[in-house]
Amino acid sequence: MLEVSDLHVAYGKIEAVRGVSLSVAPGRITLVLGANGAGKSTTLKALAGLVPAQRGSVVLDGAEVLGQAPHRLVRRGLALVPEGRRVFGPLTVAENLRMGGYTAGKRLLESTLAKVYDTFPILAERRDGAAGLLSGGEQQMLAFGRALMSQPKVMLMDEPSMGLAPVVVDSILAGVRQMADDGIGILMVEQNAEAGLDLADEVVAVARGEVVYTGASGDARNHASVLRAFLGEA
Ligand code: ATP
Repeated sequence: MLEVSDLHVAYGKIEAVRGVSLSVAPGRITLVLGANGAGKSTTLKALAGLVPAQRGSVVLDGAEVLGQAPHRLVRRGLALVPEGRRVFGPLTVAENLRMGGYTAGKRLLESTLAKVYDTFPILAERRDGAAGLLSGGEQQMLAFGRALMSQPKVMLMDEPSMGLAPVVVDSILAGVRQMADDGIGILMVEQNAEAGLDLADEVVAVARGEVVYTGASGDARNHASVLRAFLGEA
């Protein structure tokens, strides 16, 4: 449903992404692994239309979408859950969620909101409270919920477990699996390689802007280039 081929992204002379190809299928979780500076975040940002790509192809649901503006990509079914969650602290949980649903009509918005509350019951409990008062894990669920409000086919997520306590990480990653089980294709960058490998279906490992491994997550642990670069083993 999302097919990325030969994506190139540069910041001036810095070639951050050099020919990345990957795919995301409905109901599947694709994990992007790589060391700091490997180009993971830049890949997600380019796919979300937040930084321009120099060349390549991004096909979403059969249509070429590279170069489209972020709001158009959201309408087409691509949602980004940004690094650091970026919820609007002074607004309530419900207001944050409604902002995520700005592309939907009013009736659809209410039914989608109900579905999000169903998926993340804590958000329903806290719906009238300020988002800034939620815990880190709850804010991450809110960031997921806000993205779900646009009824995405594909979700891009940048380090959803960052800064969370290990026990909270488990529940966040369980939330990711639940969204995939609902049929959403997920492309996830995750520093926590062990937990990410346990969760993911497919793995794409990148180093210096290039893909060095693509395969099933179960096989990835045995692959030398994956281990060398990301798990600190030979
Ligand atoms: P991290 O895990 O540290 O976030 P990453 O794999 O996500 O790393 P990117 O953030 O995509 O890597 O960075 C890839 C390269 O692009 C790095 O060399 C980085 O210094 C550079 N870079 C990233 N953002 C910018 C920017 N806004 N301007 C210039 N160079 C940038």
